[in-house]
Amino acid sequence: MQSFQYKKVDDIASALGASEIGNAKFVAGGTTLIDLMKLNVERPTTLIDINSLALDRIEKTSDGGLKIGAMVRNSDLAHDLDIQRQYPVLSQALLSGASPQLRNMATTGGNLLQRTRCYYFRDTAYPCNKRKPGSGCAAMDGYNRIHAILGTSEHCIATHPSDMAVAMVALEAAVHITGPKGERIVPIGEFHLLPGSTPNRENVLGPGELVTHVALPALQAGTRSCYLKRRDRASYEFALASAAIVAQLQGSRFRRIRVALGGVGTKPWRSPEAEQVLEGQEANERNFRAAAEAALHGAKPLHDNAFKVELAKRTLTRALKVLSQAA
Ligand SMILES: Cc1cc2nc3c(=O)[nH]c(=O)nc-3n(C[C@H](O)[C@H](O)[C@H](O)COP(=O)(O)OP(=O)(O)OC[C@H]3O[C@@H](n4cnc5c(N)ncnc54)[C@H](O)[C@@H]3O)c2cc1C
Ligand code: SF4
Repeated sequence: MQSFQYKKVDDIASALGASEIGNAKFVAGGTTLIDLMKLNVERPTTLIDINSLALDRIEKTSDGGLKIGAMVRNSDLAHDLDIQRQYPVLSQALLSGASPQLRNMATTGGNLLQRTRCYYFRDTAYPCNKRKPGSGCAAMDGYNRIHAILGTSEHCIATHPSDMAVAMVALEAAVHITGPKGERIVPIGEFHLLPGSTPNRENVLGPGELVTHVALPALQAGTRSCYLKRRDRASYEFALASAAIVAQLQGSRFRRIRVALGGVGTKPWRSPEAEQVLEGQEANERNFRAAAEAALHGAKPLHDNAFKVELAKRTLTRALKVLSQAA
């Protein structure tokens, strides 16, 4: 591990000021960043500790939505009563991730910005375009069982690991950012980037920019939501495939539906294809399967992860069934 400076800040202005020093990085819960520093994958020269910033609240907004501070811990968010009642998909996604101890430390901002679990990214002995642009991709011809089948490029096939972000994509959340050039709001669907030829760029954050909070829109009364995750073991494991659904039903038909997939995409994966198949249609097994076929139509499996295509289809089909049968 490379030695580094440590700076604790108490307000946003100091955090932004400190972020202009050399290769500085914000540290929140540290559950991704410190691991990667120990592995020599991340090598910041300064760590800016943002744990004292007043960004640890969940507040109601004037339009009936919720504002979640970037420092709200994953446990607190998952157990918040407004989240459980209005946005169960988010609570379920959070509780399906990591372990209770990790969730007590992990934050909303850090979870959005967590980095891939690709084995080759985390081991500096291997070439990796994300870690070292232009060095190659060891996963392409290596062991790629956990890798992505949607949104991949010839330069990177790493999966985005967050469960929380998948739920937030289905909820059409907005990420609030502040930085040296001022404040801006980015729809979550545009926050994470596809790898293309620059897999080292994973999101739209510019140098020194800080996520301050995530806003959830108000949902119409009667909106249902759910998150379903498939993984190698029942807890403390990342998704092989997951599905987040947010939907309104009118009788037995879907009126409005949002679908996002996890564990299969290079970013939290919204599926407009599945939504188009379902909107206005009967909630029945035939339409669920048609939506799953549409969602995975563009999948590009490799030698070890072809099983994910059918797994993702079944996960989505099952999630739609669970949601439509909920009271
Ligand atoms: C063993 C293990 C199992 C796990 N299992 C799962 C799982 O099943 N599902 C899942 O979704 N996750 C899982 N995780 C990942 C975990 O959810 C993340 O490590 C955690 O959410 C990161 O949050 P943090 O606050 O600790 O981030 P940190 O490690 O502090 O930071 C992560 C990154 O975000 C940046 N950052 C943090 N906050 C901000 C901000 N406000 N603005 C700008 N940049 C910021 C940091 O600079 C850093 O680059 C697991 C982790 C471990 C170690
Ligand atoms: S898949 Fe991406 S993160 Fe993994 S080795 Fe290839 S370039 Fe690196």
